[in-house]
Amino acid sequence: MKIRVLGCHGAELANQKTCGFQINTSVLMDAGTIASVLNLSEQSQIRHILISHIHLDHTKGLASFSENLQAEASGTPVTLIGLESVLNALKNHLFNNQLWPDFTSIPNRENPVFRMQSLSKGEVLTVGDLEISTYAVNHTVPSSGFIIREKNSALLYSGDTHRTEDIWKAAAKEPHLKAALIEVSFPDALIDLAKESKHLTPALFYKEFSKIGLPNLPVYAYHMKPRYLQQIKKELEALALQNLTLLKDGMCFEL
Ligand SMILES: [Zn+2]
Ligand SMILES: [Zn+2]
Repeated sequence: MKIRVLGCHGAELANQKTCGFQINTSVLMDAGTIASVLNLSEQSQIRHILISHIHLDHTKGLASFSENLQAEASGTPVTLIGLESVLNALKNHLFNNQLWPDFTSIPNRENPVFRMQSLSKGEVLTVGDLEISTYAVNHTVPSSGFIIREKNSALLYSGDTHRTEDIWKAAAKEPHLKAALIEVSFPDALIDLAKESKHLTPALFYKEFSKIGLPNLPVYAYHMKPRYLQQIKKELEALALQNLTLLKDGMCFEL
């Protein structure tokens, strides 16, 4: 499984983009960044997009992407995949013909730009060579993480979360887990803000990661709020975790 980081931050700055991860060629995990990195031909190869929750740093790329795809007239809808509550929220708050046109019925209902496929907890959806499962996590709006499998490797993606349980339990049972992408948003001094906004700090990140019970598992930190990046980096380094990488936009890695 190849992962390309289109963006990995919890907000934008001049050189930092919001969350979007390309898996192999045709799958995206979150859609905070799409069209500002991928050219038209790369965008037209995207066929499935996993949506963790509706916050703009995970969905705003859908706006330009939908316009670009409509112009491409590819003829096959792109499938948006997530919890039913997440997809309903997208429909009600983004594709509502107010904030953005309803691209689930444009250019027409039979063959729209987007179709939606809900996934319930623990259900396995096969997308090409990938198997995808979703687990609700603890955030301020309906939100989930994902476990994605391909042959003998599996990847965990936490989505935006504060302290949670189910996804770590599922990860612990995953026979071929090769890596975890786990959010960390604020430095430890802002623990109150992290609790309020339901995110993690480096100390909480460590506690949550430890619940998987695989201390040597490669773990990738993402979702840093750019203005706190240097402090978060220092605090993550102090954790002295064997296989911790702070993700950067543009990175690619393979499992
Ligand atoms: Zn976020
Ligand atoms: Zn969020």
